[in-house]
Amino acid sequence: MILEVDGVEFSYDSAPILKGVTFEVRKGEMVAILGPNGAGKSTLLKCINGILKPKGGVVMVEGLPGESYGSHEMAKKMGYVPQINAGNFTTVFDAVLLGRKPYIRWGPSEKDLRLVEETLKLVGLESLALKRTNNLSGGELQKVVVARALVQEPRILLLDEFTNNLDLKNQLEAMRIVSKITHEREVASIVVMHDINLALRYSDKFVVMANGAIHAKGGREIIEPRLIEEVYGIEVLIGNLGGVPLVVPVE
Ligand code: ADP
Ligand code: MG
Repeated sequence: MILEVDGVEFSYDSAPILKGVTFEVRKGEMVAILGPNGAGKSTLLKCINGILKPKGGVVMVEGLPGESYGSHEMAKKMGYVPQINAGNFTTVFDAVLLGRKPYIRWGPSEKDLRLVEETLKLVGLESLALKRTNNLSGGELQKVVVARALVQEPRILLLDEFTNNLDLKNQLEAMRIVSKITHEREVASIVVMHDINLALRYSDKFVVMANGAIHAKGGREIIEPRLIEEVYGIEVLIGNLGGVPLVVPVE
């Protein structure tokens, strides 16, 4: 098991935010974390990658507690794309090269530069390599951040609402890229998403959170109208369109 989240508890102040969160991810698996605003999804990702220290429980990364890794070692294991990304003033190429930082000693190697080029191509940014990141659209910037996480060559990829700024075509493309990398390179991916349909289409497993706890977890079969109603408080129908499950709210 590449990642085991075992009984993780967290609070920012006195109010408990995460309550005994437990789930596992295997390599080559894409897990979607769903749940309403404020459920604790972003907090959970930060506890997984060590930005926040859990108040209870443990996160095991490749069999060892996350705390036992140094920050450079952790950066080689986990690529993290945060929910909100402020632009800065470097070129797209340099912004992505920054993801190689945990590997670079005296200056980027041929391999570092080649990886950045390949990754820019993979996410469709090669023509923007020399553009400054402060001049990018929200969607382009989002791809830069994804590319930066990918050049880290992580074993675990954590993506927090990374499709939010993207138009429909780019949402599908971004999910396809992550799904391809997950399966081909045997990465373990955790994606926090609001779009249940996009999640259903690409993810292998689902963790549904509500009020800081896991309400349900499992395969596609757990995404049922009753669960959606319990967690989001809306009535839905779940159909099937050309083999793709489709969740539709009932008005
Ligand atoms: P989600 O990503 O599911 O929307 P978050 O993990 O961002 O949820 O937030 C979970 C809860 O923790 C919310 O009630 C939020 O207000 C609170 N919270 C988030 N960040 C902080 C913080 N830095 N300080 C205090 N409370 C926070
Ligand atoms: Mg969030």
